[in-house]
Amino acid sequence: MLRSLSTSALTRALPRASPKLQRFNPSLVAAAAAAPSTSSCLLGGVRHMSFYNNDVAGLTEDQVELKEAVAQFVNAELAPRAADIDKSNQSPLDLWEKFGEMGLLGITVPESEGGLGKGYLDHTIVMEEISRASGSVALSYGAHSNLCINQINRHGTAAQKARYLPDLIAGKKIGSLAMSEPNSGSDVVSMKTTAIKKGDRFIMNGSKQWITNSLHASTFVIYAKTSPEKGSKGITAFIVERDTPGFSVGNKLDKFGMRGSDTCELFFDNVEIPEENVLGKVDRGAAVLMSGLDLERLVLSGGPLGLMQAAFDYSVQYMHERKQFGQRIGEFQLMQGKIADMYTKLGAARAYVYAVGRACDAGKVSRRDCAGAILYSSDRAVEVTTEAMQSLGGVGYTNEYPVGRFVRDARLYTVGAGTQEIRRMLIGRSFNEELA
Ligand SMILES: Cc1cc2nc3c(=O)[nH]c(=O)nc-3n(C[C@H](O)[C@H](O)[C@H](O)COP(=O)(O)OP(=O)(O)OC[C@H]3O[C@@H](n4cnc5c(N)ncnc54)[C@H](O)[C@@H]3O)c2cc1C
Repeated sequence: MLRSLSTSALTRALPRASPKLQRFNPSLVAAAAAAPSTSSCLLGGVRHMSFYNNDVAGLTEDQVELKEAVAQFVNAELAPRAADIDKSNQSPLDLWEKFGEMGLLGITVPESEGGLGKGYLDHTIVMEEISRASGSVALSYGAHSNLCINQINRHGTAAQKARYLPDLIAGKKIGSLAMSEPNSGSDVVSMKTTAIKKGDRFIMNGSKQWITNSLHASTFVIYAKTSPEKGSKGITAFIVERDTPGFSVGNKLDKFGMRGSDTCELFFDNVEIPEENVLGKVDRGAAVLMSGLDLERLVLSGGPLGLMQAAFDYSVQYMHERKQFGQRIGEFQLMQGKIADMYTKLGAARAYVYAVGRACDAGKVSRRDCAGAILYSSDRAVEVTTEAMQSLGGVGYTNEYPVGRFVRDARLYTVGAGTQEIRRMLIGRSFNEELA
């Protein structure tokens, strides 16, 4: 059972935060949200207004406080840089320690181990808020805080946690998780990378593909076959340090979206891993992998939500400033239809994602619904961001405005953490199994 939310944990985190965050004041955040729009905020590409519906979202006071603290932080530290991060495809490494100071990196790690001791819905909310400012930084945040830190938190020994978590939680080191390979994507358990036991070490050989954060990461959770003859029952998870001899990282990919979230290939040439770096049990890695994927799908669902909110906020403001035929374009019925469709799709996706988050926090982690949360929210995010782009007309198609970036970033969520097709397969299969 996860710890209940505690305001004290967050308020303890706040004084350690950046100078801007130390001035955190919820009433200022509310005033900023209610402030009238100006054309400069549209042209500058920085969001000043949000139509996030707190009444319908149904968050607790602690969760609202967390959400607003993160919003204030990313508005100051990240949103003004988001367009440059996208354009330059450069990851803003200076942000990691700032996230660490806020406690956001170890959000699901118990307070006794240096984390905030919060739940998966809280983690999803943070993911959503960071995504509103920058989809790519949020993806890297999710890979670090959920795929890497949370897997070590859930499966690590006391010694592993003591050795790896403090620097990862502080943002002094970057974390990454590697399961996919060039020829093993959707069918990930067909992986070819091996780690064969030799004395008190495992010797890893092979490669991984698509690994988020790997350009700068120091700590990797890596899956490999320790008993290849057993197929999916012969997989083991390992914690691998970057500077281990034989470990190397390939070039950064030039991606369609999520630019600034580094994605590279990994190579293992007789990498010696001490047996104390086995994460979980030998040959039990498939369970570690699959259960991790359930929670990954939930937490990453915050990404599509944040991108939808950003696109909606931006386009609604635009539609109420831009005039054609002597009228604000948002007053045309076809455009009102867009506003209504975007708003309700976002609200429905958020309601489902938050409901699944609450269930996970109550100890009811359902593969079907974790897959459903990201399936539904990412399909809606592609639709909503695309409609937002349409509502801007020609300028929406330029890189001077941020909505194209939202579309490109949203597209990732139909592939990353398992594709839409695999999510549909998992949901369908769960009913097949139930009714067999
Ligand atoms: C930006 C980015 C970041 C990523 N980060 C990471 C990371 O940090 N760590 C990591 O391990 N992986 C990561 N991935 C990899 C990601 O999980 C895989 O790309 C994904 O699982 C799909 O695998 P694939 O690309 O090999 O596609 P394929 O498996 O080759 O799929 C191609 C197409 O075939 C469809 N398909 C495949 N099998 C079936 C089936 N049985 N039924 C119906 N359709 C099917 C797929 O849905 C897809 O449309 C990342 C990917 C991207 C793009």
